[in-house]
Amino acid sequence: MNELPRLAPNTCPAPPNWHNSHLAHKTLNTIMITPHSMSRILTLSAHMLREHEDPGKFLAWIATHGPAILPELAAMTHSEHESNGLFRMLGIQIYNHMPLERNSFQLAPIPRPAPNAPCDCGSELKYKRCCKTLEMFKETPDFGNLLFYSLSSYTNKDLAMLPDTRINTQDLAAVAWELFDAGEDRRLLALLEPWFKPGVELNKRQVPLFDLMADLYFELGNPIKRKRLIERVCQSRYKPLAAEGWMRKASMEMDANKPADAWRSFSKAQQLDPDSPNLCVLEVTMLWSEQRLAELKSRAQFWLTRLKRNRNTPPEVLEIIEICCHDPASLFGQELF
Ligand SMILES: [Zn+2]
Repeated sequence: MNELPRLAPNTCPAPPNWHNSHLAHKTLNTIMITPHSMSRILTLSAHMLREHEDPGKFLAWIATHGPAILPELAAMTHSEHESNGLFRMLGIQIYNHMPLERNSFQLAPIPRPAPNAPCDCGSELKYKRCCKTLEMFKETPDFGNLLFYSLSSYTNKDLAMLPDTRINTQDLAAVAWELFDAGEDRRLLALLEPWFKPGVELNKRQVPLFDLMADLYFELGNPIKRKRLIERVCQSRYKPLAAEGWMRKASMEMDANKPADAWRSFSKAQQLDPDSPNLCVLEVTMLWSEQRLAELKSRAQFWLTRLKRNRNTPPEVLEIIEICCHDPASLFGQELF
């Protein structure tokens, strides 16, 4: 990346006495930073961190170059010392929330020195007399999912190694949804396909990614790949994932006007994961589309008690199910889910 500032040497003057600083009552959360500058510093930080292993060098870099990237934050400080300390603290927060490849995409917070140990900023003061006083800034700005930034410098080809790491696939799915919404189909394909390659074991980790993979093949007009994907997922030894496969198959069969096949697939899913809120949604939708209102009412009652015990049930599902228990006809003309 051309605009990446050069790495500064690891020098860092001591901050002043922060207890008396005018910044003392603020946290990083309350300091206004525009989303554009924030996204720029996070992107640059992710690039730096991918190139340079040492968090110390990263902190020195952000202390030196941060003020040019985030002038609104620099404007709040009254001296180079203050600015240096504040940007180092921001750097620590960024590092602590950035999943990096060298940590197998797990978070690995920078250890802080003991109070009487020398401060790690290079001031030669004790930590308690130096940067510890900055800990009032340890509240994190609302970074959201920093994995998006970690991966921003990865080529499409680089993404193929992700299944060999310990990356959190819930977070990865959030990145994938952003790509999906932005219409970045090629990138999304490069991100998702390696997870479903022949030879890769399908287990719990694929659960957050499967729906998106199937949706993407649908968007791209690739019914053969979609069908193969679903068939493979149905065979997974991890039951909740296999159940998702059968549910997907059932809704496709319903759409293709093959209700008998759809109900067979539904039963398979039911055997594998009987308490899944998704299964409830599917059953109610299927009964609804066949206009079997009396059955719909009694099944909704059954599901309501069951789902109330399941903390993972989305509230909007419970809401629709409650209506289905009493007056499903009032939902006519609406999309159920
Ligand atoms: Zn220090």
